Amino acid sequence: MSVLVLVEHDGGSPDELSLQALALARDVGGPVHALSIGAAVTGLGAYGVETLHVVEDDRLSAYAPAAWAACLDQLVGETGAQAVVAAGTNRGNEVLGHLAARRDLPFAANVIAVGGDGSVTRVRWGGSLLEEARIESELKLLTVAPHMVEAGTVNGGEARVEGMEAELAEADLVVRVVEHAETPSAGISLAEAKVVVSGGRGVGSADGFGMLEELAGLLNAAVGCSRVVTMAGWRPHTDQVGQTGTKVAPDLYIACGISGATQHIAGCKGAKKILAINSDAEAPILASADYAVIGDLTEVVPAITAELRKAQS
Ligand SMILES: Cc1cc2nc3c(=O)[nH]c(=O)nc-3n(C[C@H](O)[C@H](O)[C@H](O)COP(=O)(O)OP(=O)(O)OC[C@H]3O[C@@H](n4cnc5c(N)ncnc54)[C@H](O)[C@@H]3O)c2cc1C
Repeated sequence: MSVLVLVEHDGGSPDELSLQALALARDVGGPVHALSIGAAVTGLGAYGVETLHVVEDDRLSAYAPAAWAACLDQLVGETGAQAVVAAGTNRGNEVLGHLAARRDLPFAANVIAVGGDGSVTRVRWGGSLLEEARIESELKLLTVAPHMVEAGTVNGGEARVEGMEAELAEADLVVRVVEHAETPSAGISLAEAKVVVSGGRGVGSADGFGMLEELAGLLNAAVGCSRVVTMAGWRPHTDQVGQTGTKVAPDLYIACGISGATQHIAGCKGAKKILAINSDAEAPILASADYAVIGDLTEVVPAITAELRKAQS
């Protein structure tokens, strides 16, 4: 009996959310196997990984959801894993969705704890409900809710690294990443940024985000937004924070012209502090905010930027 974890990484450095997935995987019990695609991930022994399986294949290194699922499927056969765990990222959820379809199995997303006999605790309804559920299958497929489990380390030795030849069908490679287009805020990941400057309908237009970009640049922050903004085409969906976007947990979340709908708060309530800038003193976001500036963001944001420039000069 063992557990298999998909580890996402950036050039061999593990993604923080994958380290959180490893912490939950240790609670499943049994030796921990990990799969990394594109490069060997370093330092995983400290997170309880006994064996790291590495696939180096140009066709799927950038990302190919069905092919990644095929690799996990193959490893389940080779390791006899009783559970497959991934981070609750867009990729983690997509790959495990493919694996569930391949094996015709149920799949539990947003898990925050595992018990004996297949019981899991899951976050539901944008974080307003905890569900106790039981997975009725021999092989359990789980993704871990972002920022809800401490990554933590253990006194593990070095993980054994084994190369793996992926056995793929042509259909596994139909969907794959062939090119990366840089976005203006590329470089700072929204999910891992220490500061997020986020804009809603109150920003008024795509061009209005220029002043948020400027502030973000001074704070070494990522730029986020509400769903109204992505629906209007002002920003890409990758910038959306919320229930159907990215879940963030920065030290500071600056919400500019965002009303604070429950679906938005579901994505930013992990922030240590929230600063709301809103012209409406009755906006719901004020109930979640630690600090608020009631005013027109087109005056408040440039004023903050000007003060920061003064302080930094
Ligand atoms: C199934 C489902 C999933 C959803 N998922 C998400 C999600 O993941 N993320 C998400 O964000 N939403 C999500 N939504 C949408 C959500 O319900 C809200 O509609 C959305 O968050 C509102 O966006 P907003 O705050 O930008 O706009 P609004 O609610 O219109 O708020 C705009 C705010 O800007 C303020 N404002 C206006 N002008 C100014 C100004 N000049 N200066 C300062 N403040 C100003 C206003 O006072 C107001 O508070 C989802 C909805 C559903 C049904």
